[in-house]
Amino acid sequence: MKRPNPIERMINSFKQLPSVGPKMAERLSYFILKAHGSFVDELIDSIKNARKQIHVCSRCYNLTEVDPCSICSDEKREKSLLCVVETPQDLLSISNVKNYNGLYFVLGGALSPLDGIGPDDLRVRELINRIKNDRIGEVIIATDADSKGETTALFLSEQIKPLNVRVTRLGYGLPVGGDLEYADEVTLTRAIESRKEM
Ligand SMILES: [Zn+2]
Repeated sequence: MKRPNPIERMINSFKQLPSVGPKMAERLSYFILKAHGSFVDELIDSIKNARKQIHVCSRCYNLTEVDPCSICSDEKREKSLLCVVETPQDLLSISNVKNYNGLYFVLGGALSPLDGIGPDDLRVRELINRIKNDRIGEVIIATDADSKGETTALFLSEQIKPLNVRVTRLGYGLPVGGDLEYADEVTLTRAIESRKEM
């Protein structure tokens, strides 16, 4: 017997989500069919609401309710210091670290030739313009400690150095292959402290 079409359709939608395989998509769908109506309403409403109210900051490309975001409009921040991260989640991790008080730039991912992701798919041009226009003195490259992140860091440093700007890379402490998003506060504090010239 085949599953009713509406269930099949829901499963197919869930399968598009990151890290959700066919089995998990099926489990989520049957869970939702059994769940309380108020829970399902809140789930749908929270998704619609976030999609409507969350925007991309026009300066750092972080996700925010107001543009520019609260970090970019914070007058107390060190404006000549720019930390480049891959994703808004990485930005959030570093923003909890107390020894960093500069600004940010969200690149939008990492270089990955095998997946067809080149410089034009990331905000490389926007980053270079930002560094030129805002008189940035130091760029800390905080891409992940995996091979894509390292390739990206090297590429960026080659692009930025001719602008006569100091380029540094997060130092020891980050687990090799580790995603910045999951690094704890102590590890990130140490990584920023021990940043090295590229
Ligand atoms: Zn911002």
